[in-house]
Amino acid sequence: MDKPSREAVAGAMDAAVKWVRECRSLCVLTGAGVSAESGVPTFRGPEGLWKRRDPVSLATPEAFAEDPKEVWEWYQWRRRKIRGCAPNAGHRALAAVEAVKPDFLLVTQNVDGLHRAAGSRRLAEIHGNIWTVRCVGCGAERYEQGDFTDLPPRCGACGGLLRPGVVWFGEMLPREASGEAMEMLSRCEVLIVAGTSAVVAPASGYAAMAKRRGARVIEVNPDETPVSGICDATFRGKSGEVLPALLG
Ligand code: NAD
Ligand code: ZN
Repeated sequence: MDKPSREAVAGAMDAAVKWVRECRSLCVLTGAGVSAESGVPTFRGPEGLWKRRDPVSLATPEAFAEDPKEVWEWYQWRRRKIRGCAPNAGHRALAAVEAVKPDFLLVTQNVDGLHRAAGSRRLAEIHGNIWTVRCVGCGAERYEQGDFTDLPPRCGACGGLLRPGVVWFGEMLPREASGEAMEMLSRCEVLIVAGTSAVVAPASGYAAMAKRRGARVIEVNPDETPVSGICDATFRGKSGEVLPALLG
C-alpha cells in the first residue's frame, strides 16, 4: 500500500481524537510494543532472545515441567532487565486519560508492571505480572521484586515449586481480568489497540469483537498487523509519540 500523505494522516488524527474525546466508554488494549521505547525486550526479534533460545518455547508449562531452573534463569534475566526500565510517554498518556473517562479499562498483555508504575489503576493484566510468584503446590501467591538466590525458588509454606505469576502459552487467562476485559469489549464505544502484533489468542480477537458491535477501532503500531484491515484508523508510529497525541 502507498504511504498516506501527511494531510491524510493529520485528518485521520483529528477524526480519531474526536472519537476518543467524545466517547463515554473507552477501552485500550496494549502489547509489548508499548513497552519497547522503555527498553523492555519483546519476544520476537533479536533483543528478546536469551542464550539464542526462542523465548516462545520457554514461556510454556511444558518447558517449566521439564526444566524449571532454566525457565527461572530466563525469568530472572527478564526481571533484571525490566527492573531497570521506566514508563514512557505512552504509558503516561494512558494513565492520565483514565481520570477523564467515566468508563475506562486498560487491558494489557504486558507483564512488566509499567502501566501500574505510570499510575494506571483501571487495569486488567490478562497475562499476569512478572513481579508475582505462585506456588505450584499450595497456590499461594505473592509479590516479589527481588532476585532469588536459589533457582528454582521454593515455597516457604509447603516446599512446592514457585512459578512466575504470568500466563504461559497454552494456559487459561486469569478469570477476573479476562472477565473484566470481555465486559468492557461488549460495551466500549472506542477501542485503541496499541503495540500488539495481534497474533496471540485470545487478545488477537478483541478488535474484531468490538468492531462487530459497532465500536470504532484505532490501531497504533509502526507495522501492519492482522487486525489493521478492520480498523477505522491506523497510525503507523511509536506509541510513545502517537498515544500522547491521540489522548492529549
Ligand atoms: P509482540 O512482541 O508479539 O508484538 C509487539 C508489537 O509491537 C509488534 O506488532 C510491533 O510492530 C509493535 N511495536 C514495536 N515497537 C513499537 C512501538 N514503539 N510502539 C508501538 N508498537 C510497537 O507482543 P504482543 O502482541 O504483546 O504479544 C506477545 C506476548 O508476549 C504477550 O502476550 C506478552 O504476554 C508477552 N510479552 C510481554 C512483554 C512485556 O510485558 N513488556 C514483552 C514481551 C512479550
Ligand atoms: Zn506452597
